[in-house]
Amino acid sequence: MIARLLASPRGILSRFRRFRSRPLGSKALILLYHRVAELPSDPQWLCVTPQQFAEHLDSIRRHFYPLRLSELQARFEEHKLPRKAVVITFDDGYSDNLYQAKPLLEKYEVPATVFIATGNIGKSREFWWDELDYLLFSDGALPESLEITINGKTHRWTLKDEVDSLGRVDGVRWTVAMDFSPTRRHQLYRELAAIIRDLDESTRESVMEHLAGWVNKPRAARVTHRTMSPCEIQELAAGGLVDVGGHTVTHSVLSLQSAAEQLKEIAESRATLEDILSRRIDTFSYPFGGRGDYNETTKAVLREVGLSLACANFEGPLLSSSFPYDLPRFIVRDWGGEEFLERLTAWFKGQ
Ligand SMILES: [Zn+2]
Repeated sequence: MIARLLASPRGILSRFRRFRSRPLGSKALILLYHRVAELPSDPQWLCVTPQQFAEHLDSIRRHFYPLRLSELQARFEEHKLPRKAVVITFDDGYSDNLYQAKPLLEKYEVPATVFIATGNIGKSREFWWDELDYLLFSDGALPESLEITINGKTHRWTLKDEVDSLGRVDGVRWTVAMDFSPTRRHQLYRELAAIIRDLDESTRESVMEHLAGWVNKPRAARVTHRTMSPCEIQELAAGGLVDVGGHTVTHSVLSLQSAAEQLKEIAESRATLEDILSRRIDTFSYPFGGRGDYNETTKAVLREVGLSLACANFEGPLLSSSFPYDLPRFIVRDWGGEEFLERLTAWFKGQ
C-alpha cells in the first residue's frame, strides 16, 4: 500500500481530498421535529404523536447516542463524537413542545434544542400555514370562488361547494408532500401556501385578513395551534435539558429580505428570548431552511450578532464546512418506532 502511494503522488492527493470531504471521526445526525401532537388535519405534516415520539426516544436511547447541539461542534472538531450521535431539535415554538415533548424528553433523558419564532408570543395568532388550514379545512362550505390580488397579480380559483373534504381522504391524512390534491379545497391550500410562503409580513397579513373575511371566520389562535407564552418558554428551559434558540420574529424567508430586515428579524427574536430567559441565546435555525431560504448576507448577520450555530433544513452529512451556519438536519415525520429506526440507520449508512 505504501509503495503504491509513494509511486502515485496523484493517488495521495485524491485520497487526501476524499478524506477531507468525508465527515471526520464518528457520525452525527441532527433531527428536525416541529410538533408532538395528534390533530385531525396536518397539511404541512408537522405532527408526531406522543406515542410515536416516545418510540423515537426509546429507539435513540437503545441504538444511538443523544447529544446536545451545544456540544456538537467541540466534539466534532476534537474528533470526540460518540458513535451514532443524534441531536434533537424542534422548530417554531408550539406549546406542545412543553406539554407533550418535554415530559418525554425528561423520561428518556434526551436533550433537545427548541428554535422559537417570537412574533406570535403573547398574541392570539397562529402561523399562517395553520391559519390557512383552519380557514380552508374546518367545518363549513367555502364560497364558490376566490379572487385575490397579491403584489399586483390577480389570482382566481373556482371551488364550487366541497364541504366534505376536511383534510382526510379515504382515511389517509393529506399533506402537501403528497403529489396529488384530492379536491379543489386541497388544491387551493397547496397553491395559496406556495404563494404565501414567499410574501413579506405585511403583504401576508393583508392576504390572511382577506381570506378570513372571505370565509367569515375569526383570526384567533386555536388552543391546539398556539406558540408558547413567555412563562411556558421559561418552563420549557427550566431544568436545563431543553435549550432554546432563535427562529426569527415573523418566520419569513430571510434570503428575500434586505440586510437590515434580516438583522431586525434575527436580533429582535434573539433579544426577546434573552429577555424571557435571562440568559444568552447562541443558536438559530432558518425559517423553512432550504438552501435558497438564506444567503451569505444571513450568515454575515449571524456572525455580526455573535450567534454561534445555525441549523438548516436539508439532509446531508455533517462536514467541517457545515459549521457554523450550514448544519444539515433530517426532518422527522409521524413514523412508528420501527420505521424511525430503519430511517435513522439508513441515514447513518448514507453518510
Ligand atoms: Zn419554522
